[in-house]
Amino acid sequence: MGCCDTQPGLISYEEALENLLAGDTGAVSVEQVPLADAAGRVLATGIRANVAVPPADNSSMDGYAICTEDLKVSSKLPVGQRIPAGTAPPPLVAGSCARIFTGAEIPEGADAVVIQEDVRIEEGEVCFPDEVPLGDNIRRKGQDINVGNDVLLTGTRLKPADLGMLASVGIAEVSVYRSLKVAILSTGDELVEPGEPLAAGQIYNSNRYILKGLLAALGMEVIDVGCVQDTLESTLNALREAAERADVIVSTGGVSVGEEDHVKGAVETLGALDMWKIKIKPGKPVAYGRVGDTPFIGLPGNPTSTLLTFCLLGKPLLMRLQGEKYYPPLEVLVQADFQRSRQNKRQEYLRVRVENGRAIPFKNQSSGVLKSASWANGLVVIPPETLINNGDPVKFIPFSELLN
Ligand code: AMP
Ligand code: MG
Repeated sequence: MGCCDTQPGLISYEEALENLLAGDTGAVSVEQVPLADAAGRVLATGIRANVAVPPADNSSMDGYAICTEDLKVSSKLPVGQRIPAGTAPPPLVAGSCARIFTGAEIPEGADAVVIQEDVRIEEGEVCFPDEVPLGDNIRRKGQDINVGNDVLLTGTRLKPADLGMLASVGIAEVSVYRSLKVAILSTGDELVEPGEPLAAGQIYNSNRYILKGLLAALGMEVIDVGCVQDTLESTLNALREAAERADVIVSTGGVSVGEEDHVKGAVETLGALDMWKIKIKPGKPVAYGRVGDTPFIGLPGNPTSTLLTFCLLGKPLLMRLQGEKYYPPLEVLVQADFQRSRQNKRQEYLRVRVENGRAIPFKNQSSGVLKSASWANGLVVIPPETLINNGDPVKFIPFSELLN
């Protein structure tokens, strides 16, 4: 995969992202699913329209279809036909109008629809206003999609509007990628699972549940390899199992180079590893490589770092492997409700809550404080070497952008 040719070192977020996005989509197979079951799946084949939407000119309002030329002769016309939606009307008889309803096809010969509020009925005939613009209240054939247009491109994750678009061109089945199987494992001798008693020296495993939540939001399949003790032996075993069962492996913790950190050595034994120090805060070294042929990413263990590095780095990698096109999250400008008088060499991601357009940071921004992320509704991005005065515009990424 070419991910391990570069020297380890301090790199920018953009460079790390570029490395993660370079390379093939995963080897996930393709399957056909009924449109009704396709929500959240990623299109493996782009879709072109075989029909136009709408398939014919139709009325956007309830009213009367006319030929505007006829009004030059008389502003009062008899009703020649009635056209409800769902019928195929005969041509408009010259010198008459047609009672027409929203969504009904425009009869041949008509070139405008006058809304019912703008006419008067006199002795059974319809009196029209003097000026009726050509084409008024007509939705043109193909104004949404024309035959041959791209409806959706390969790599689109199907949102409700996309499903509606596919339905509108008559697609009943789509070819999508099988959901990516993501193995997760949490390293740490100190970890116990919620529900177990907590002995001295232990903490509950948060990261497992953070990752499960994140992967569920991405529609990916979790292969839970569980907790891994801080020994080379158990790390090797867990990684072997993960590589066998999944398309990609995500681990948390144990990626530093301390005596209790075995991820680096284990991945190097089973495949290849690149460790990056990325110029982001929070975020310790992130490990990227492969176990055998299975892509691997190792996230730092502090739960806030796990969450953020997953969203900023893990997710783009998984999206690529899933065959989904990656778009950077939307950033909006808000006002800083804080001041930053010391520059930082790293790009910072402050957990903030935006209220009335102002970004209020959580008071404790330590990466060990998960409450900062749970309390916040998004992140403020402070580029390296940047000073911020209260009220300055700052970039805000809502969690709703990052977490799905
Ligand atoms: P590590 O990266 O393994 O050195 O872990 C960094 C910090 O994160 C340590 O304080 C760990 O106890 C903590 N940590 C690691 N994994 C988890 C986890 N799954 N849940 C909660 N805290 C964790
Ligand atoms: Mg550890």
